[in-house]
Amino acid sequence: MAPSLENSPEGNTYGNNDRQYPDVNWEEMGFSLTPTDYMYVMKCSTGEDFSQESLIPYGNIELSPCSGILNYGQGLFEGLKAYRKEDGQILLFRPEQNALRMKAGAERLCMPSPSIEQFVDAVKQTVLANERWVPPFGKGSMYVRPLLMGSGAILGVGPAPEYTFLVYASPVGSYHKHQRSLNLVVEEKHHRASSGGTGGIKAVANYSPVLNALTRAKAQGFSDVLFLDAATGKYIDEGSACNIFSVKGNTISTPPAHGIILPGITRKSIIKIALTLDYQVEERPVTIDELMDADEAFCTGTAMVVASISSVTHQGRRIEYKTQADAVSQKLRETLTGIQMGRLEDTMGWVVEVN
Ligand SMILES: *Cc1c(COP(=O)(O)O)cnc(C)c1O
Repeated sequence: MAPSLENSPEGNTYGNNDRQYPDVNWEEMGFSLTPTDYMYVMKCSTGEDFSQESLIPYGNIELSPCSGILNYGQGLFEGLKAYRKEDGQILLFRPEQNALRMKAGAERLCMPSPSIEQFVDAVKQTVLANERWVPPFGKGSMYVRPLLMGSGAILGVGPAPEYTFLVYASPVGSYHKHQRSLNLVVEEKHHRASSGGTGGIKAVANYSPVLNALTRAKAQGFSDVLFLDAATGKYIDEGSACNIFSVKGNTISTPPAHGIILPGITRKSIIKIALTLDYQVEERPVTIDELMDADEAFCTGTAMVVASISSVTHQGRRIEYKTQADAVSQKLRETLTGIQMGRLEDTMGWVVEVN
C-alpha cells in the first residue's frame, strides 16, 4: 500500500527522483514525535513464536487494563536511526545489535522476543512504509522505536500470557536542539541502577525513576543528570539515557558495561573507532574525581550520537571542559556520523541498506 499523501498538500519534491516529502520544517525539528503513517505489530502467546505481522495505520492501541505492561512494567524499548544518503539510499546502523539487546532484555523480564531476523525485518518494513518521512540527506534522521510488552492480562505478579512487538517511527532532528554541548549535574539523591537490577537492559521501568532527578536538573538549567554508582557513590555510571566517557591525554575511559550501565551501541562503536584512531581506550570504573580532573568528557547514545560535555557540577563545584573543534569527541563524532550517513566508507560492516 502506498503511503497516503493527502496530509501534505504542500509536500515538496526533492532530488532527482521526484520524492514527495511531507510538509515538515526539517531545519527546526528537535527530538520530538512527529507521527508517521504506519506502525508494525506482531503478537505471540506464551510458548509460541511471534507471527502474523502486520503494518497498520499509526495510532492508539487497545490494551487490557490488567496487562503485564500496565500493571507490572513488563516491557522493553529500543531506539535506532535510519539516515538518507545523498543518493536516496536509506541506511540503518547495526540494527542486529538492537535486536540482540532486546533479546537479552526479554530474557531478564521473562518475555519471548522476536528473532534477530524478525526484528531487523520489522524495522526495515516500518522505515519503508514511512519512507516519505525519512528526512532529506543531511537534515536529520528517522528515529525507529521498537517496543516489546506483556500485553496479556495478568492479575497476580507473573509473566503475561500474551506479548506484543510494535515498531513506530518519527523523523527527528538534534536531541539537544539549542545546546552545542552538555552541562551535567551529578545526582546526589537518587541512583539509576544497582548490582543485580535491570540497569543493563532497556526496561521501560528504568526510566520513570530518573524523571525526578532529570526534572530537578533541567529546572536548574542543566542538560542532563550524571548518576553515580549505587554501591559507593564514588564512580560514574551514566546519564539518564546516555553513556559517558572521560578523556585524559591520549586515553579515553568509560565505565564497563557489566549489568549496571546500559550497553550502548553507540558506546561500543565509539570504542572501536577510537581504537582505530590510535587512542588508548580503557573500560574500567571511573571515579567522579577523575572525571572532574579530565581534559575532556562526552556522552554517547543513538539520539544524541556523540555530545561533548562543557561542564560537570558536583557538590556545588563546577568544572568546565574544552569543547573546541579539535576535541577528541568531535573527531569521533565525525567518523561515526560519516559511517552512519554513508559519507565515509563502512569498513566495519556496520550499515545496513533498507531499500
Ligand atoms: C539507550 C541508552 C543508552 C545509549 O544506547 P545506544 O545504543 O547508544 O543508543 C545509554 N544509556 C541509557 C540509560 C540508555 O537507555
